[in-house]
Amino acid sequence: MYAEVIVDIAHSDVDRIFEYSCADDLQPGSRVKVPFGNRLIDGFVMKVKDTCDIDPAKVKPIAEVFDEVPALVPECVWLTGRISARYHVPKAAALRLFLPAEMRKGKVRELYRKYVSLSGQPFVLSRTAAKQGEVIAYLRDKGEAEYTPLCETYGRAAVNALEKKGAIAVEKKRVVRQPVKEVTGIDNIHELTPAQIMAIRSIDSTDKMVTLLHGVTGSGKTEIYLQIIGQEIEKGRTAIFLVPEISLTPQMLSQLRARFKGQAAILHSGLSAGERFDEWWRLRSGEAKIAIGARSAVFAPLENVGVIIIDEEHDSSYVSETAPRYSTISIALLRAKYNHAKIILGSATPSVETYIEGQEGRFNLITLPERINKKPLPEIIMADMRKEVKRGNNSAFSQALRDELQATLDSGNQAIIFLNRRGYAQTVLCRDCGYVAKCEDCDVSLTYHSDTNRLLCHCCGRSYRMLDECPECHGKHIRYNGTGTQRVVEDLEKLFPQARLIRMDNDTVSGKDGHYKILQKFAAHEADILVGTQMIAKGHDFPSVTLVGILDADQSLQFSDYRSGERTFQLITQVAGRSGRAGARGKVVLQTYNPSNYILRYATSYDYNGFFENEVRIRRATLFPPFAVIVRIMVTSESQEHALAAAKEVNGKITALVKEHEEDFLFARALWAPVKRMEKKFRLQILMRMYNSKLLPQIYDICASANSGDVFAYVEENPANLN
Ligand code: ADP
Ligand code: ZN
Repeated sequence: MYAEVIVDIAHSDVDRIFEYSCADDLQPGSRVKVPFGNRLIDGFVMKVKDTCDIDPAKVKPIAEVFDEVPALVPECVWLTGRISARYHVPKAAALRLFLPAEMRKGKVRELYRKYVSLSGQPFVLSRTAAKQGEVIAYLRDKGEAEYTPLCETYGRAAVNALEKKGAIAVEKKRVVRQPVKEVTGIDNIHELTPAQIMAIRSIDSTDKMVTLLHGVTGSGKTEIYLQIIGQEIEKGRTAIFLVPEISLTPQMLSQLRARFKGQAAILHSGLSAGERFDEWWRLRSGEAKIAIGARSAVFAPLENVGVIIIDEEHDSSYVSETAPRYSTISIALLRAKYNHAKIILGSATPSVETYIEGQEGRFNLITLPERINKKPLPEIIMADMRKEVKRGNNSAFSQALRDELQATLDSGNQAIIFLNRRGYAQTVLCRDCGYVAKCEDCDVSLTYHSDTNRLLCHCCGRSYRMLDECPECHGKHIRYNGTGTQRVVEDLEKLFPQARLIRMDNDTVSGKDGHYKILQKFAAHEADILVGTQMIAKGHDFPSVTLVGILDADQSLQFSDYRSGERTFQLITQVAGRSGRAGARGKVVLQTYNPSNYILRYATSYDYNGFFENEVRIRRATLFPPFAVIVRIMVTSESQEHALAAAKEVNGKITALVKEHEEDFLFARALWAPVKRMEKKFRLQILMRMYNSKLLPQIYDICASANSGDVFAYVEENPANLN
């Protein structure tokens, strides 16, 4: 027999099938080691066949087969081809999506431990061997014990002597490392509300592949997901459950474990290599049937997938920012097609692109306009910060927010303060000459972090000593601009000395349980106020939170991106949704310098439809997605000269393409990227807006031709971030 093998080198030069001879029972999807040139390298078997296309005398045999069970399910082999063609990446790069990194390298293996039990063989104990007698007694009592601790307690000599006599059996057993051990959810089985029953019926009966569940925050979407997962498991099928943030996975996992026990497995980058390996194998072996995780869990090694759930489907984390730059929904669509599975997209604020599909009937659209038990959505109070400044209040907190915070603390409830800016001060500048501290490797200003007293680049992570004087004019008047979360905590400590504060942002969450621990602490009411960035906005369910403060609602409006209005609307709705989910009616104080902005108006009245109609009207008129496609070729190099030359060449080819297909292009233009330099690399972009995606393959080819030497170029389609 012969095997078609893809070698695990993600380079276009070797991106083709290599043939090897193999055993009859080799299965497609297996990981193998093959001779390649004069060395052995890893590869994947794509196909096994009777004949080969090259001279059989020249075919070399496969050197080693790694798995008894092929690592990749047949569907993955199929998907690999699709992804590689769609996103123009080598097949090896597509294959890597399906395997945890440590598995490809074979660094992590199953974890085995030695266990001891009574063998049942007859034996004689000498009277002097008291320790051996104790071991026997212990094993009679417990049945089994782990080898190492047993030796530690009774002495290795005693245990070994018993083994020699044949009195005990020592045996290696596979141990499954279990991540997030402390998760102990209680299963809240509720009687379903009529709205939930209707939604489930609709999902069951629709002949459309995709259901969009548009439900306000707290409308009970999670319970609907759990019910559908339960149904699919009952039918013998499997489920993939995606959440936008890894910080949300433990919370969801605890709910899934409470209901589905060991059938749920978690896949995410925060796990240790060993845990990830084990969870992955539990899914691959069929022991676990539900995969939960962030974006990459869409590649879970499950067969017979019955449903793929994408919660908070509008979230930008569902678009990959490294090659292949896939959108999770498009991968889910492929998998659903292969498996005849359902897809459920859930959101209180669906993306414009998705909602249009629902409105025009291509997706099954379900609307849940009310919270469970008809709890009202929180009241949103707008605080006009221009008036605050006029009144002489230059702090980050409006009077309204201070009053509401005081009232919340007095009533023993909890509050969340949201500010999407970590650190202490966003920029540090010299008051005398206007110098702004910037990163040496990136074209961005540095953020001051008070905990470490250092300046940090939020783009590349490089850290610098804090200035004691201006490096340009040697002035001593250093000013901080733009409040960050650390400053907010400091200010709150002064305003409310009795309040217990907790902060959650990228600086406070370390380790794989970092998020979870902070959230648990807040959920247990060990803190009164949670201050945080974006990561606190999503999905969390804290019943005692009755106040949410949004410090700078305008921040995301300032981006010159066609999505900035949509992003702002989504963010406000999400954050506001954390308030008043149980008990008392919640409040939200939204601080803005721009109270008449229409996006804020729609958000404060929870008018998704108004927002949507307006947004669609604008995008249709100005030809932005989904009525057009934005494509960007990014050309980068550490050498400015090389970047410019490569961009010029790409631009020449694009210009020729535009000439040939003028009717497809709205515009194409080469220019510096908004962030001109990032991680030492200069960045130029060729920005295109087109009526359709017909010419994408040509654009990918043009881009690929620019990749050489120290120039790295890539294509982005409707990028989530236009930095
Ligand atoms: P969403 O995901 O739509 O924001 P959740 O699923 O978090 O909303 O539900 C909000 C709250 O309502 C949760 O605390 C959940 O336990 C509760 N809940 C869900 N379904 C029911 C029900 N049928 N009866 C009572 N409470 C429910
Ligand atoms: Zn930097």
